[in-house]
Amino acid sequence: MQYRTLGRTQLSVSILGFGASPLGDVFGATNPSEGKRAVHLAIDEGINFFDVSPYYGLTLAEERLGQALEGRRSEVILATKCGRYGEDSFDFSAPRVASSLEESLQRLRTDYVDLLQVHDVEFGNMEQIIQETIPAMRRLQAQGKARYIGITGYPLKPLMRIAEAVPIDSILSYCRYNLLIDDMDSVLMPVAEKHGIGVINASGLHMGILTERGAPDWHPASEEVREAGRRAAEFCRAHGVDLSELALRYCFEYPRVASTLVGMSKSENVRRNLHALATPGDPEILRQVRAILAPVFNTVWPSGRRENHD
Ligand code: NAD
Repeated sequence: MQYRTLGRTQLSVSILGFGASPLGDVFGATNPSEGKRAVHLAIDEGINFFDVSPYYGLTLAEERLGQALEGRRSEVILATKCGRYGEDSFDFSAPRVASSLEESLQRLRTDYVDLLQVHDVEFGNMEQIIQETIPAMRRLQAQGKARYIGITGYPLKPLMRIAEAVPIDSILSYCRYNLLIDDMDSVLMPVAEKHGIGVINASGLHMGILTERGAPDWHPASEEVREAGRRAAEFCRAHGVDLSELALRYCFEYPRVASTLVGMSKSENVRRNLHALATPGDPEILRQVRAILAPVFNTVWPSGRRENHD
């Protein structure tokens, strides 16, 4: 396993990170024992970076990850979030940030997290996040409950706005760098690098579109984007290639981010993603898949408050 330092933190994270949202059944029902096996296999194979949130499965993902990490907490770098608690439930206030972390620590069965992130900043008021949420998180850091603090979200504009306004340690950006899109590279990275902020790339499979199974019902992408994903999967199948492995390989080769988070809840997918990490992709297949996806490349959807849209 290869590791990279997250920005200016002292966190050395595996370039393949374990996204724990599927443990909360957000991509369909999963088997908790199998989820635990997936977590243990990942750790045994050198994956040390785990990302979760109270939002995933409305606390279920944290609960299950906490159970799986019992006895193994010291082997991992653990990231969770605050501010988002449901599809339409947000609270970025200082008191809620503090109570949220206490609750997360209980579910995760630990007394500190390595990274506490504001979840989906585009649903918040920028002034509140800058003046209230981040300072509250710094106080929790001073108390030793979170080693570092960061922000997450989909549109790039609010992530950059916050990064320019207040010191933060990390940015998690999702669905903005993979085979379907790459504006994170040209738009977000220069700002993050200017401030020494570590960047985490999430959803290299575009939240399921770049998989055989396809997108879940709740996926916000347009039908054109989903259809392009299906055509890419079909092409790969016909050539004996796994689209997900190809897509992840593309992300793992991107050197400007510390880690690529992939959602996992089964040991089989952990194995496949480790295989993707270790196996060079076929450049000709990659070229043809990119051509299939080209008509919808860099298509984005609106997320959050209107004033925070890109
Ligand atoms: P993803 O693009 O990683 O896709 C996950 C889906 O792909 C799941 O259904 C999973 O079972 C499946 N999958 C994984 N490996 C596979 C393989 N080899 N073959 C076929 N299918 C495979 O989407 P994601 O889970 O949303 O993103 C990864 C992680 O990033 C999340 O779990 C979360 O930790 C983080 N994330 C954070 C935010 C945020 O903070 N706002 C947003 C999105 C993602």
